[in-house]
Formats: sequence, C-alpha cells, structure tokens
Amino acid sequence: MIEPSKVSEAFNRVEEENYAFRAFLKDHADEDKLDKQFLELHNELFSDYDCNKCRNCCKEYSASFEEYELKSVSAFLKMTEKGFKDKYIKEDLGESLLNVKPCCFLMEDGGCAIKPCKPLNCKDYPFTNKPERLWSLLSILTSASICPVVFEMLERLKKEYGFTKRRRRY
Ligand code: SF4
Ligand code: SF4
Repeated sequence: MIEPSKVSEAFNRVEEENYAFRAFLKDHADEDKLDKQFLELHNELFSDYDCNKCRNCCKEYSASFEEYELKSVSAFLKMTEKGFKDKYIKEDLGESLLNVKPCCFLMEDGGCAIKPCKPLNCKDYPFTNKPERLWSLLSILTSASICPVVFEMLERLKKEYGFTKRRRRY
C-alpha cells in the first residue's frame, strides 16, 4: 500500500489513466458486479489498515454534520448547539460544514476527539462499500487522490479489467 504522504503525487501520475478508466467503466461495467468488486476490495484492504496512521481524509475534507449530529456533538462537548455552530460550523449550499481544515477534532495520535458521536459522513468515508458505485466514480477518483486504500482499489480494479492493456491498444 502506498504511503499516505505519497498518494497525491502518485495520483497525479495516473490521473489521466484513472479518468479514462472511469469512462471505460461507465461504458462497459456491470453495475452489480462493480459494487461487489468494490465491496470485496473495501473489506480486504481496510481489514488490516490502520487509518490512524493516515487520516488524510480528516486533513483534506471538511466534516459535514446533519442536524441531529449537531445536537449530539454539542451535547458531547458540553456546549449549546448555537455555541457549537458559532464556533465550528459554516453553512455551505445547505450543508453544515466544519469551518477549519485539517479538522480541529483530529488528535496527534490520529484519533478523533469526538469519536463517540462523529458524523456519519466521517464514519462512512470513502463509501466504497456502498451500492451504486458506478454512479459515484467521480467522487471515488477524488478519493483516490487522498486515500491510499482507494488509490490501491483503483489500481487493482484496472488490473482486474485489464485496463492498461486496453488503453494501449487504442
Ligand atoms: S479512510 Fe482513507 S484517507 Fe481516511 S484515514 Fe483511512 S486510509 Fe486514510
Ligand atoms: S470529526 Fe473526527 S473523523 Fe471526522 S474529520 Fe474530524 S477528526 Fe476526522
């Protein structure tokens, strides 16, 4: 698996190929089979990966909170919801996003200071175990530029589909 600090550079080298692979999948992949492939890779690769040694997602994305999550995290931090929102949240296109990056709840050891009530979006990232991945390939490509596990998934999938060879033929 690639080092977390080297993902962005590695992604830049294969970016064009990855976008071509997305187009190829859109035209040729079976939706259910692709979901199964992502799910298997997700389970295999995350099963022994220690995300605390990476946390690129916590550094690069703004955590997003649903209304009920704003309530629970405010209570967890013993703050009023208004106080929490005033201090930490910016509204953007109807989303309540953390107003700082890297995330201010990311701890030095890679842990999350609000772990018992961290937002579902953080828990579910990078969503590669979810259905309908064929329709989310753009966000998967974006994730491959920061997440070493997603980067590896795409490299493996390209091999499974024999994509590099196909690309060279055309
Ligand atoms: S989900 Fe991906 S980007 Fe986030 S910590 Fe784990 S390996 Fe790193
Ligand atoms: S809330 Fe926790 S899991 Fe979510 S980005 Fe911040 S540190 Fe990472």
